[in-house]
Amino acid sequence: VKAIGKPERAVVTTCAYCGVGCTFRAEMRGEQLVRMVPWKDGKANRGHSCVKGRFAYGYANHRERILNPMIRESIDQPWREVSWDEAISYTAARLNQIKAESGARALGGITSSRCTNEEAYLVQKLVRGGFGSNNVDTCARVCHSPTGFGLSTTFGTSAGTQDFDSVMDSDVILVIGANPTDAHPVFGSRMKRRLRQGAKLIVIDPRRIDLVRSPHIEAAYHLPLQPGTNVAVMTSLAHVIVTEGLADEKFIRERCDWDEYQDWARFVSDERHSPETLEAVTRVPAQDLREAARLFATGGNGAIYYGLGVTEHSQGSSTVMAIANLAMATGNIGRRGVGVNPLRGQNNVQGSCDMGSFPHELSGYRHISDAATRKLFEDDWGVTLDPEPGLRIPNMLDAAVDGSFRAIYIQGEDILQSDPDTKHVAAGLAAMDCVIVHDLFLNETANYAHIFLPGSTFLEKDGTFTNAERRIQPVRKVMEPANGYGDWEVTQLLANEMGLNWTYTHPSQILDEIARLTPTFAGVSWERLDREGSLQWPVNEKFPEGAPIMHVDGFVRGKGKFVVTEYVPTDEKSGPRFPLLLTTGRILSQYNVGAQTRRTDNVLWHKEDLLEMHPSDAENRGLKTDDWAKLTSRSGETTLRVLVTDRVAPGVVYTTFHHPATQANVVTTDFSDWATNCPEYKVTAVQVMPSNGP
Ligand code: SF4
Repeated sequence: VKAIGKPERAVVTTCAYCGVGCTFRAEMRGEQLVRMVPWKDGKANRGHSCVKGRFAYGYANHRERILNPMIRESIDQPWREVSWDEAISYTAARLNQIKAESGARALGGITSSRCTNEEAYLVQKLVRGGFGSNNVDTCARVCHSPTGFGLSTTFGTSAGTQDFDSVMDSDVILVIGANPTDAHPVFGSRMKRRLRQGAKLIVIDPRRIDLVRSPHIEAAYHLPLQPGTNVAVMTSLAHVIVTEGLADEKFIRERCDWDEYQDWARFVSDERHSPETLEAVTRVPAQDLREAARLFATGGNGAIYYGLGVTEHSQGSSTVMAIANLAMATGNIGRRGVGVNPLRGQNNVQGSCDMGSFPHELSGYRHISDAATRKLFEDDWGVTLDPEPGLRIPNMLDAAVDGSFRAIYIQGEDILQSDPDTKHVAAGLAAMDCVIVHDLFLNETANYAHIFLPGSTFLEKDGTFTNAERRIQPVRKVMEPANGYGDWEVTQLLANEMGLNWTYTHPSQILDEIARLTPTFAGVSWERLDREGSLQWPVNEKFPEGAPIMHVDGFVRGKGKFVVTEYVPTDEKSGPRFPLLLTTGRILSQYNVGAQTRRTDNVLWHKEDLLEMHPSDAENRGLKTDDWAKLTSRSGETTLRVLVTDRVAPGVVYTTFHHPATQANVVTTDFSDWATNCPEYKVTAVQVMPSNGP
């Protein structure tokens, strides 16, 4: 970082990378950001941070950032820079024309989990109230939509049950399909602190993540399951707990539906769900699994933390419900040190989901088909809402190929790089008549765009983010938007050009509207956040100060619901042509598709995605570390450099997806979660062979 002089002023704001939500003092000299200093009073980070939040802000001034709107008639033409006035009137005219020709359902939008709550709320309001359809979705579709489905079904609301500090009261920590020290580093450190104090650790992951063995930490059990067998593992843990009489029947009788519990207990007790029977499927030694189950059930406060290794499967929703079943069966809900905790990936993925970004739900997770909820919004917005749920992202792409879906407004997402089966995404985008990308950079998706609206960074806007512990925190403007407008202002310009009459002059007014229409946000206001620093929803009459721990006196849905989750093998099978299973993940110094981190000095720390491969698989193919290899699946092929390591089990390979040159998602499949369409990124049958390079 170049020294550019002593800071003259500081603004406290919230990190725009991961779901931990660290707060920083952004120290400024004139209009230049001098440094980001982790804020000691930050409730999520208490003065800590990772390298991304601290150093990776250079993208805000990167030479590739686009500051002027651009349009083009077709994607084979060059871009033409235009004024904001021309861009907005051209965009509104295209959308109105398509709506007149093909109806409201030919239009849709995608909200961003990188933008603020207020911006996500406005995009879904524009789609529902201006476009006239419910075709709105969010990138949570491809990450935590199964969390929404699974936790709403079992507990009654779609959110983690605990605050981060709760882990300091855990006695047994079960981490499944998550890598907190890389993906949520500040929370990962807190977890490590608790483990160093003596809490026991169980890791369920096909890869030996750092937590399994690091200085002064050794997991009690690492269960390296075969990718795609999460439900089988969770069911056999439950089998041990029920058949050995370790379930907390007092808790279950008081807090859960007893009849449903009995149905579930009968199901998991069946011998076909024993660790010994399922060992051939899970590849987890039955004895380890039995001992891990006993430890979790009898070791004191048991907390479960999970990530995308749970959700991004064809049985993602089933695994989330299986996790909830396990927590209820052992009485590990409703107090400190326990709970079910999805580790949200992006800074505001919790918030974008809370704000009504799904095609079937308005803000606060209320179904669009509910007439009373619709009327509340219709009266407030002065519009008529479509009562039918809209299309999810993959369905929008399919409908585009069929010709019934023609225009999309994408704010802050690069679906071509981040979504699975790149060919499918490209075909859908190419079939549309109007693709509007609202972003900082000409990303991969912009190759298919007709209109580019420049976005603003988190440093250039006011608003709020909600982190993985439901903590709503202020984002404060540090500098004026280099492109002239905050993202919420651009959405408002477009809405008004399409005939709506929005009059917001500051995001605090949007937050007031959210609070007015969303019971879980009823007690939230900009003034209160400014004064108190943060609030954990629900914040309302029942919980005036917010709720660090949920489901303390009862589940949001009343009685906790046990759901029978039958293991169903994925349709993605390995075989002679594709004998290995690929799974994907992240590295600490990069972030998602790397749009921001690749445009900072971080590129020096992680230049390319690597293919991790077990020594036996590498040797069989004559591959060594640093060799190039061709990775082929039924969907496509790409070329990566090899890293030989026993972190992965034989038969499993692993890579990250931070660099567009790799195009890791060229090889992933179009299989998805049965309930939510969340893609199955974590299991792809592949072959790996030596290559001369890309
Ligand atoms: Fe930002 Fe997450 Fe790092 Fe905190 S842990 S600084 S929120 S990326």
